[in-house]
Amino acid sequence: MRYAVLADIHSNLAAFERVLEHAQAQGGFDAIWCLGDIVGYGPDPQPCIDLLRQHPHVCVAGNHDWAAIGKLSTHDFNADARAAALWTGPQLSSEGRAYLDALPERLEQADITLVHGSPRWPIWEYLLTVHDAEDSFEHFAGRCCLVGHSHVPLAFVKPQGQNTSVNRLPAELPLAGDARFILNPGGVGQPRDGDPRASYALYDERERVFRHFRVPYEVAVTQRRMIEAGLPRRLVERLAQGW
Ligand code: ZN
Repeated sequence: MRYAVLADIHSNLAAFERVLEHAQAQGGFDAIWCLGDIVGYGPDPQPCIDLLRQHPHVCVAGNHDWAAIGKLSTHDFNADARAAALWTGPQLSSEGRAYLDALPERLEQADITLVHGSPRWPIWEYLLTVHDAEDSFEHFAGRCCLVGHSHVPLAFVKPQGQNTSVNRLPAELPLAGDARFILNPGGVGQPRDGDPRASYALYDERERVFRHFRVPYEVAVTQRRMIEAGLPRRLVERLAQGW
């Protein structure tokens, strides 16, 4: 089986569509592993849910998915994120709301764990440092945990008996040797590593290899839709710079 590993789509339909086309051009995929935050920030929440549901997939809940339907307080959101969450709710169909409401916090796919933030605190915790990751390795049992939430493509690698290291997610990463991994494919709909191109990974289960890709998309199309929707200006601008 081959999986498209997608995190933080964030209602960015143009980015989501280009990523799926790119994945098809790489030989395609059997299913999508979605790491949460389908909605929030961007202009097309319901179409993104609909597009995801057109494919075989599994998905875990992100903080924005639950904030949009009022299942989670926006108390810890900054003003722009809160404004976008409040805008998103009424854009959703009743099926869309029910779909987000039913998302699990954590999924196990063979020896790979899927969460949005971290295996310790699946909804909220950001994994950016070796210290964060060190603690997280104790909160899943298998070989690899896939995370999103930070929108930064990272690979935390913990070889047996050695210290954990963190690096940018490489173009190709085999799950080799006795190491354990926490991997973030980066954000589809709002990359935050200074590169505005959409970020995602393909996982080949037979080869046990992750491949990381960057995909250009029509940023201006998404920005125009956001302006039409009246979404906060800062959220519009950041897409062009990738932060
Ligand atoms: Zn996010």
